Amino acid sequence: MIALQPDFCDIALPEGEHYSIEDYASSKARWCSGCGAHTILNSVQKLCNDKQLPPEKTVFVSGIGCSSRFPHYMKTYGFHGLHGRAFPVACGVKFRRPDLNVFVITGDGDCCSIGAGHWVHAIRYNMKMVVLLFDNAIYGLTKKQTSPTSPFGTVSNTHPAGSVLPPINPIQATLGLPNVSFVAQTVDWKPAHLNATLKKAFDHPGLAFVRIVQRCPIWMRDSYEPTVKDPDAITVLNHENGIVLDEKALKKFRHVNEHDPSDILKAREAAEMVKETTPIGLFYQNKEAIRYDEYGAHNLGTAVEDRIGAINSMMDRYAI
Ligand code: SF4
Repeated sequence: MIALQPDFCDIALPEGEHYSIEDYASSKARWCSGCGAHTILNSVQKLCNDKQLPPEKTVFVSGIGCSSRFPHYMKTYGFHGLHGRAFPVACGVKFRRPDLNVFVITGDGDCCSIGAGHWVHAIRYNMKMVVLLFDNAIYGLTKKQTSPTSPFGTVSNTHPAGSVLPPINPIQATLGLPNVSFVAQTVDWKPAHLNATLKKAFDHPGLAFVRIVQRCPIWMRDSYEPTVKDPDAITVLNHENGIVLDEKALKKFRHVNEHDPSDILKAREAAEMVKETTPIGLFYQNKEAIRYDEYGAHNLGTAVEDRIGAINSMMDRYAI
């Protein structure tokens, strides 16, 4: 596990000064040329700059995988942890330090396989954070093994004759969880939509789950190329309370469906659309869902004295 600490102290900017994009950029990203992770990194740095997030109040937590190198490329706090364990670390950070801006960076293997149990409970706990699922539908770092989101029949090192199980749809799965409060999908090659989605996610009061369909030109070119090239392959979910694009950006899409993100049943129907087309936009938002970090901020519903009293009486049981 690597906890990254940038070279700054906890000092507010002098009055009248502003952060620039360069204030969030760390070392040069070492992803492959053409990897979709590069555009996501640019978009996240743009979000930090647009929101003027103090780097010393911002933390990126990741697990293992190509995408999980992300915290190394941000000049903020970061935690590059264990495979599948980004969620519990991020929840711990948010619970103890509700003042921090917390982001989770996870991949399809990291989130939907080894980290699936943590994914379920993080959604249910609904602490305020932004979760970015970089979904390239393959284990890229370890050179092409089938992941839980690999399309049926994907040829890989683990399935040379093609994968034999239907993939998990992360949108559908997340929408089936209790206390889910924000589910959106975007693609890395449509920057206007990606930027608008990240902004909406950051403004959400609870856990914002964003699946980003991500290009991996090294191992999965055949998987995403049809979607990139075919203007009929994407359907935009549009609504005044959803991901709002300006008219010019919206006109670039041939298929636009009106979808009210307050309707979870319709959101689940929209998630099914993935068989015919890739839907992008805000599937569901509920700003009123219970947040465990708010509960924690009130000492889990008990006064500090009561908790100390409970510990003392427990200790007394073992005193001679
Ligand atoms: Fe990106 Fe694929 Fe290269 Fe990993 S293997 S860095 S996902 S292009």
